[in-house]
Amino acid sequence: MIFEGLADKLQNTLQKLKGKGKLTENDVAEAMREVKLALLEADVNFKVVKDFVKIVKERATGSEVFESLTPGQQVIKIVNEELTELMGTTQSKITFSSKPPTVIMLVGLQGAGKTTTSGKLAGYLKKQGKRPLLVAGDIYRPAAIKQLEVVGSQVDVPVFTLGDQISPVDIAKAGVEHGIKHGNDVVLIDTAGRLHIDDTLMDELKDIKTTVKPQEILLVVDSMTGQDAVNVAEHFDTKLGVDGIILTKLDGDTRGGAALSVRAVTRKPIKFVGLGEKLNDLEPFHPDRMASRILGMGDVLSLIEKAQVSFDEKKAKELENKIKTQQFTFEDFLEQLQQVQSMGPISQLLEMIPGAGGKQMKNLEVDEKELVHIQAIIQSMTTGERKTPTIINGSRRKRIAKGSGTSVAQVNRLIKQFDQTKKMMKQFTDMEKTMKKGGKFK
Ligand code: GDP
Repeated sequence: MIFEGLADKLQNTLQKLKGKGKLTENDVAEAMREVKLALLEADVNFKVVKDFVKIVKERATGSEVFESLTPGQQVIKIVNEELTELMGTTQSKITFSSKPPTVIMLVGLQGAGKTTTSGKLAGYLKKQGKRPLLVAGDIYRPAAIKQLEVVGSQVDVPVFTLGDQISPVDIAKAGVEHGIKHGNDVVLIDTAGRLHIDDTLMDELKDIKTTVKPQEILLVVDSMTGQDAVNVAEHFDTKLGVDGIILTKLDGDTRGGAALSVRAVTRKPIKFVGLGEKLNDLEPFHPDRMASRILGMGDVLSLIEKAQVSFDEKKAKELENKIKTQQFTFEDFLEQLQQVQSMGPISQLLEMIPGAGGKQMKNLEVDEKELVHIQAIIQSMTTGERKTPTIINGSRRKRIAKGSGTSVAQVNRLIKQFDQTKKMMKQFTDMEKTMKKGGKFK
């Protein structure tokens, strides 16, 4: 989980303050010591930690807190505001050129996730109604061009390539011209990386920059490398100049040091974060929402946005009607399950629910395998069985268990749960009807 240790520690520390009716300077000093340690343990840049704690302490020992009736809450509010500020205050979007195409260069070290992110970003922009073109400019890493072609086809975005025998500068130039000719309004150039920063790489990137004059240079860095990622960002920014940062592999980063330091050190905003290997695992970065997540206040807005992308409004209406008229079947159940899964891993969704990401729910291990079993069971049912589960007798249960690689007990359990859910739905709709009639409940 992102910021796992940090979230736990900060929440613990701040919880202690929340419980107190009055705060002394000592209470605040003690809390700030703990905050400082927690940030350092999360691998946040030392100077960033020092400045952060200083500001929070100054504000937390002022009248804003001491004259408040809820001083603990005020400190949490201050920490939340300062964390948000640290990560950039507001969401930083891509600037599109007024005269298309908008040219975006993706740069970064090898293995940071540049090619994958190029595909993710192309897919993201396509969903926003753009007509992107991917340009394969990484001629050095074996198979990089092929990899870009694969991700391009997965997100249904064309890929421009000239093979690996032509200079990246010429490829970039030809790519942009191709984009103009074919009506692409965004051209994304995947550039070559190196294992380490070297001058040849920087010179090549500078040449591309001068030639194609990109609207945006986005630096892709691997958040799991912590402070190294921050150093890389500083270096690229000094040498080449970057407009924004895409932080990848946040899903595997339990500490979060890069996410918390990179903006403060480079003054360049994090524009997107990568949260997994799949091509839809890219999210715009919202400093305020991330701060709320760290403090266990949840991130309901991101959850709603995810749901809006995954759920179809018309279908939702149909479903509501089915529930009301008692026609909810296993088919609908399966569809629901698949929609929820398309929103991403359940553990990531839980983090966005206020309180759910924190300690309270730590023991609630969501078994994603169980969901796979449920899907397999429903898929092994015939259409008739899915529509009318009452016909599923003993021998049918055995057949379904065999077909889905589960046990009869698992099949029994699912059917029972389904019955109970249906009953519950009926109770809800009855309740609603009674309420509408102005009746009372027993
Ligand atoms: P490049 O050399 O910078 O082009 O890196 P690639 O795009 O080939 O990515 C390197 C590896 O990182 C691949 O295995 C990707 O699947 C993986 N990767 C990229 N972004 C993410 C991410 O956000 N989360 C995770 N878990 N893996 C990622």
